[in-house]
Formats: sequence, C-alpha cells, structure tokens
Amino acid sequence: MITPPAGPAPRIPVRAHVGLGANVGDARQTLVAAVHALAALPGARLAAISRLYLTRPVGVADQPEFHNAVVALDVPAGPDPERGALALLLALKGIERAFGRQRRGRWGPRELDLDLLLFGDERISVERPPDGMSLDPGHRDRLLVVPHPEARDRLFVLAPLADLAPDLVPPGWDETVAVARDRRLVAEGPGAVQVVGEWAGEAWSA
Ligand code: ATP
Ligand code: MG
Ligand code: MG
Repeated sequence: MITPPAGPAPRIPVRAHVGLGANVGDARQTLVAAVHALAALPGARLAAISRLYLTRPVGVADQPEFHNAVVALDVPAGPDPERGALALLLALKGIERAFGRQRRGRWGPRELDLDLLLFGDERISVERPPDGMSLDPGHRDRLLVVPHPEARDRLFVLAPLADLAPDLVPPGWDETVAVARDRRLVAEGPGAVQVVGEWAGEAWSA
C-alpha cells in the first residue's frame, strides 16, 4: 500500500509574467538589478527574460524615454489564484520600494515599475486583499486586476511579452500576444519601441 505524505499536496507553480519599466536614473542598470531581485524572491524561479527595449512614454509624453522588459517567473500557486497573485503583487511592490520608487502619480516618471501582467491563465479582479493588507493608498479601487487591463494596448508591454510568449492567448483576449503586438506596432509606429539589448547570462548585452 502507498501512503500519501502528510500535509497538503505540493502544488504546481504558476507561470507569471511581470512587466518591468524605469525612466529615472540608470534605468538599464536598475532593470538588471530588478531581474536579479525577482529571481531571488522566495519560492520563485526565473524562467525567461525578454530583450531590453527603449520605449516612448505613454500617457504623460513630457518625460524621459523608458526602458522596458518582461520576465517569466514561476511562483507558488498559493491557496487560491487570488491569494497567490496578491502575494506576488506585494512582493513586486516591496522590490519597487527597495529600489526607491517615489510617488509621482500614475504614468509619471518612476525609478522602477513592476506590473503583474499575467498569472497563469487566471482572470483575477480583487477589490480588497483577503487578510486586510494594504497597498498604496488611493489605488484601492483597482487593487489587483489580471491580466493587466492595459497590457493589450501598450506596445512597450506587448513587444517584450511577445519575445517570451508570442502564441499565448491570455484569458479574456481574442488574439495572441504576437498579433496584439503587430496591431500596436502599426498604431504606434516602429519608432515607439527599439531593441537595445539581449539577455546574456547576467545582464543585457548592448
Ligand atoms: P498602470 O497600472 O497603468 O501601468 P502604474 O504602473 O503607473 O499604472 P502603479 O502606481 O505602479 O501604477 O500601481 C498602482 C496600483 O495599481 C498598485 O498599487 C496596485 O494596487 C494596482 N494594480 C492593479 N492591478 C495591477 C497589476 N496587474 N499589476 C500591478 N499593479 C496593479
Ligand atoms: Mg505600469
Ligand atoms: Mg505599476
């Protein structure tokens, strides 16, 4: 007879995709360090890193160009998708703070932005954290929405995401990531994003 091990069954990790952006200070170096911080998160395994992009600012045009990338990160599933995704969001916010992220409002310049783009094939919309933990005040109305609602309309997200998962159709979308990227490439023009590096072990090569 086979006796199952005591305790809860180990759960298969979830593949999350995280968008990285920065346009204050040495953005390229910040994103390199942020990739290493993500890889060091407890229980996480860094699965893939996109190319590095120099991108035109969206929303608030009068600010320096951004550097953007996307990573695939395998993370613990958590007791349920909402709590698993919230735990990851809190970890992302902790890294942003550790990198000196200042509050300047949405879409403004930032030392480091880490957005949870995809959490496996889950669709998540939570208004309040289940255990009362608070994030940035003033944003509680949109505490966590996954897939990230703006991802589909942003070339600076779609281009690096398509490096990693071109054929993926995220939940709620009716097109692949690559098709969405090509659509936004036409809308925003080829000058909106520019490849400036390829991951080479420890950092992006120039
Ligand atoms: P945008 O979400 O349009 O990219 P932003 O990245 O500039 O805007 P932030 O100031 O970084 O906005 O985040 C504001 C709040 O958005 C976060 O504190 C978080 O509670 C909430 N939020 C909701 N969904 C997500 C998500 N999928 N990823 C990251 N933050 C999210
Ligand atoms: Mg953002
Ligand atoms: Mg953000």
